[in-house]
Amino acid sequence: MNSSLQFLGAAGTVTGSKYLLKHADKTYLIDCGLFQGLHKLKERNWEPSPIDVNGLEAVILTHAHIDHTGYLPRLVQGGYHGPVYASEATCALLELLLPDSGYLQEEQASYANKKGYSRHKPALPLYTYQQALRSLQSLRPVKLDESLAVDEHLTVTMRAAGHILGSAILECELEDLKLVFSGDLGRYDQEVMCSPTAVHQADVLLVESTYGNRAHSREPLEAQLAQVAGDTLERGGVLLIPSFAVGRTQQLLYLLRKLQDQKRIPDLPIYVDSPMASDATAIYCRFGAELNLKVDLLMDEEACPLRCRETHFTRTVQQSKWLNEAPGPMIIISASGMCTGGRIVHHLKHRLPDPKNTVLFVGYQAQGTRGRLLSEGAQQIKIHGMPVPVRAKIASIAGLSAHGDYHELLRWLSGFERAPRQSFIIHGEPQAAEAFQERIHEQLGWKAHRPSYLETVTLGE
Ligand SMILES: [Zn+2]
Repeated sequence: MNSSLQFLGAAGTVTGSKYLLKHADKTYLIDCGLFQGLHKLKERNWEPSPIDVNGLEAVILTHAHIDHTGYLPRLVQGGYHGPVYASEATCALLELLLPDSGYLQEEQASYANKKGYSRHKPALPLYTYQQALRSLQSLRPVKLDESLAVDEHLTVTMRAAGHILGSAILECELEDLKLVFSGDLGRYDQEVMCSPTAVHQADVLLVESTYGNRAHSREPLEAQLAQVAGDTLERGGVLLIPSFAVGRTQQLLYLLRKLQDQKRIPDLPIYVDSPMASDATAIYCRFGAELNLKVDLLMDEEACPLRCRETHFTRTVQQSKWLNEAPGPMIIISASGMCTGGRIVHHLKHRLPDPKNTVLFVGYQAQGTRGRLLSEGAQQIKIHGMPVPVRAKIASIAGLSAHGDYHELLRWLSGFERAPRQSFIIHGEPQAAEAFQERIHEQLGWKAHRPSYLETVTLGE
């Protein structure tokens, strides 16, 4: 039967994951991500959607990150009324992430209008908090490792991907064709997340390549973190860690707690200044069985390894503002992880001009984000349209990534018994995807294609 796949995002870039699968007369959407980062990418979120919502059978999500799910409210607003399948933990996380995304859209639009720095007059949100809330009603939770019959043509099985809580590799079976979507793949032998599930067979494979050209540092994470934290705290400074609320924050709390238990950093106050990170931590505890941690400990406030001893979860805006003025030494973990919005932006404004402080990046920084500018050594950055001098130390720890490096990606690929008939390298910036394409060819002897944005390919040929 005729099948095709169109790449509506994460082709030549790492955001906007959307793949339109057509089979017989049916259409399915795999992931429904928002474009983030560069202005020209974000513009795509506003372009008329190439998805015909009336002909769309189902949406299936790999995991909760906004670059894989954040277009959903727009899709529902545009008239999509069908089911959106995602793992149980992904559904729980989306109850936090999607409304927050709507809130951020509204906040950015109203700030731009107030300060008059948007090119669009008036600046509008892509969708609102309320619209995001409404889109949650389409979610249909699916258990990992159980087959879901989407309809008479398509069966989907979700396998743990080890990237964030609930993240899944999708095994999609059509009558005559098996497609595997890697989603974002996690790392092997980690302490918080499990390793990516091995898959042995596919006719069509889509594999991510975020770190297709990089190997993670083999230096133990704890040593790096202890070093950066120790230096900053000795100066009496503030260690400011921009962090994704989901996944990274919990990993950090785990590591900081471990360093405290080993007396390698002092028991000083750690502020998690993100209501979402606090709620996400609770969801991590609820779905603890999917992690590598002891579930019985996760339910215990004192012994839970996802909490440091003096952890404060700040919720109100007043508490957050108070933190802006509070003297060090202390550690503040705040979102968003790439400094594109949220409370971290205010913290940066207050902490960047002081050389005592350190801003520590613990994750991937996409092109066009403030995080990328800072990590590339910018002397000054713009916040709310105003220049802010960068005098604080800028550090980064790469090993904390939730994405496998090319060794780990190849390790996962080596689980396949033979080369898929068609392999596509997605979710990577051009250099990363290209380098990974060469590595796949060298090490596995497979030919893999790097699709371009909006490209359509015929499957099973
Ligand atoms: Zn992700």
